[in-house]
Amino acid sequence: MKKIALHWQILIAIALSIPFGIFFYEFTPSIKWIGDIFIRALKMIAIPIVFSSLVMGVSSLGGYKDLGRLAGKTMGFYVFTTAIAAFIGVLIVNLVKPGIGADLSLSETITDLAVSKMTFKEQIVNIVPQNIFEDLSKGNLLPVIFFAIFFGFFITKSSKEAQLNLSELFKSAFEVFMKMTLFIVRFTPIGVFAIVSNIVADQQGDPEKLYKIVSSLGLYTMVVWAGCLIHGGIILPSLVYSFTKLNPYKHIKQMSLPLLTAFSTCSSGAALPFTLKESQEKTGISNKIASFVLPLGSTVNMNGTALYEGVTAIFIAQAYGIDLTIGAQFVIILTSVLAAIGSAGIPMAGLVMIAVVLSVVGLPLEGIGLVLAVQQLCDMIRTTVNVYGDTCAAVVVAHSEGEKLNL
Ligand code: ASP
Repeated sequence: MKKIALHWQILIAIALSIPFGIFFYEFTPSIKWIGDIFIRALKMIAIPIVFSSLVMGVSSLGGYKDLGRLAGKTMGFYVFTTAIAAFIGVLIVNLVKPGIGADLSLSETITDLAVSKMTFKEQIVNIVPQNIFEDLSKGNLLPVIFFAIFFGFFITKSSKEAQLNLSELFKSAFEVFMKMTLFIVRFTPIGVFAIVSNIVADQQGDPEKLYKIVSSLGLYTMVVWAGCLIHGGIILPSLVYSFTKLNPYKHIKQMSLPLLTAFSTCSSGAALPFTLKESQEKTGISNKIASFVLPLGSTVNMNGTALYEGVTAIFIAQAYGIDLTIGAQFVIILTSVLAAIGSAGIPMAGLVMIAVVLSVVGLPLEGIGLVLAVQQLCDMIRTTVNVYGDTCAAVVVAHSEGEKLNL
């Protein structure tokens, strides 16, 4: 028998969980633990994957001593475009407000949110860890990211032997954590079934409320798509044009194979071989620049993921009836950018990161259950934007280095 693709399994699980929640609602509490384990497993892998992916990425820049300028330009473009993406997401979700009205009536349980306890200034100060082990164990993303970048950078400044050992160690660890993530992700259908059937059962007897949740999710998905289309279809092409005066739409056409691969596999990593090939063969980017910018981008540069993180965190806050101050929203943008940088280029990495973004701002983790149902749809579009962003960086960097491109 042919194996059913994961996204179909997830869709089937959702389709089954709805009648199960309606007709067998007395059984749903007894399977709730399955969803809890699934979410705990997502949280479990988040910090190790962020830490190893960042240390690996930053320490590998050391090998390109003569390319210090390239590294600066590439990282500058990556961080700049990722921040714009997160900002667009947060802007649209505030305008459309898809979560308002999906009232999950859980606001009583979240009275002592971290968000309400910490001032904006404190949040910024806390980015510098005073005890990295405490932050690792508590899953505090920002200090962990700060430390990982710092650590990765100083690996590049140490002896050849230390550099080699440590970068190999973190590369290997990252490979293992990616495999662990892919393994956990295989259980999504079961996790989704347990979580969604419980959400449905909780609304038992109130079909109107259920309807509201479903329509909110539809609207939320549309916000993610709209944000990604605006960013990928307007902002990034405009940036390419303004930096290079080359034709960005011809470039999109040249990239159709990697972009379609990203869309269908939901993995920047899977699209990488095609991105490398087409950028060199079609766009005419040199091997030196393509092989530096694109692999780095496939793990570090995730515009679509940053947008998704921002939209999702605020959507969940809206659904729980939590008012976020401007300061808290700013922290969400910052965290989304960092979470995207720390995400791996594999399916659902962005979902793993949501667990971390929510805990940074102190939002209820159960909110993940809500967005799981439309996870696949969001992953397809955000991965496409992630990959497109990498190829744009390659064009901009190659052009700035004086390369002649076929655009
Ligand atoms: N699937 C995305 C990628 O590979 C990461 C994510 O889940 O956001 O780029």
